[in-house]
Amino acid sequence: MSLLVVGSIALDSVYTPFGETADAPGGSAVFFSAAGVILHPVQVVGVVGTDYPLGALKALEARGVDLSGVEQAPGESFRWKAKYSYDLASRETLETRLGVFADFRPKLPPKFRDARYLFLGNIDPELQLGVLDQVKQPALVACDTMNYWIHSKRDLLLELLRHIDILMINDSEARELSGDWNIYRAARWVLERGPRMTVIKQGEHGALLVNRDTTFKVPAYPLQEVFDPTGAGDAFAGGFMAYLASTKDLAEPNLRRAMVYGAALGSFAVEAFGVQGLEHVTLAEVRARVRAFKELVHFEADAPP
Ligand code: AMP
Repeated sequence: MSLLVVGSIALDSVYTPFGETADAPGGSAVFFSAAGVILHPVQVVGVVGTDYPLGALKALEARGVDLSGVEQAPGESFRWKAKYSYDLASRETLETRLGVFADFRPKLPPKFRDARYLFLGNIDPELQLGVLDQVKQPALVACDTMNYWIHSKRDLLLELLRHIDILMINDSEARELSGDWNIYRAARWVLERGPRMTVIKQGEHGALLVNRDTTFKVPAYPLQEVFDPTGAGDAFAGGFMAYLASTKDLAEPNLRRAMVYGAALGSFAVEAFGVQGLEHVTLAEVRARVRAFKELVHFEADAPP
């Protein structure tokens, strides 16, 4: 089942207490596909400027990412600059420069229009809607966003919510979008606006899958070394969606397994700067980490006191 992502293809400059990068390949579509392709082929829609190091994208192509929906346009690539706090729990965006994304009007190659699994990665909601319109009959549509778009394009984002199955956002974005500090109420606020499910990413505290009747929680993998949290959310989404696309099963038990695959891929992403943490991960390593999650949360509920 084909899996399509639209999102930013960026040059990231990131400062953490352990080091910094300047103009490193990143962006939501890049982290998503670097993680997702370990489990399933990924098709990408996006745009880069004339200054983008195409070698980084070629490396993804060699791993099974179809880049025929990536355009190169005259102008500067999307750039994002951010600084993390000492405990890596929060970050401040220092700069967002849209560059060629400002005028991008995606036109999907005909074969991409048959995609069954669609991830509208973090980018202008107008572009997300533009891609959604061109996909004929998706079986599952999930969407991410960021505070930048919550503030600048709120109405379009709310319009988009009416057409998607899953909103996948982090806890601070869920609070900002809903205006409610309580994360469970914020998730329900989202459900009332269209999506059947809300996935809330909580950084080192894991992630929640909330639907009308049930809530499922996956912890974050207990890592002793974290270098750069950038892209963890997109890698989570890549693992989640690629697992569903490869298993073609949207029943609750499989959605819960997809959450664990997402958490496993997110954990590989943060172990190195930029996309490097995902470049050499094998399927066997992902599966081993998924088994470790089972061990991490397993307990016997019914032993007598
Ligand atoms: P995450 O850490 O998963 O939230 O994603 C970080 C990635 O999102 C970075 O690689 C950035 O290039 C990208 N990004 C940051 N701000 C935006 C934005 N406003 N629109 C699209 N992508 C963005």
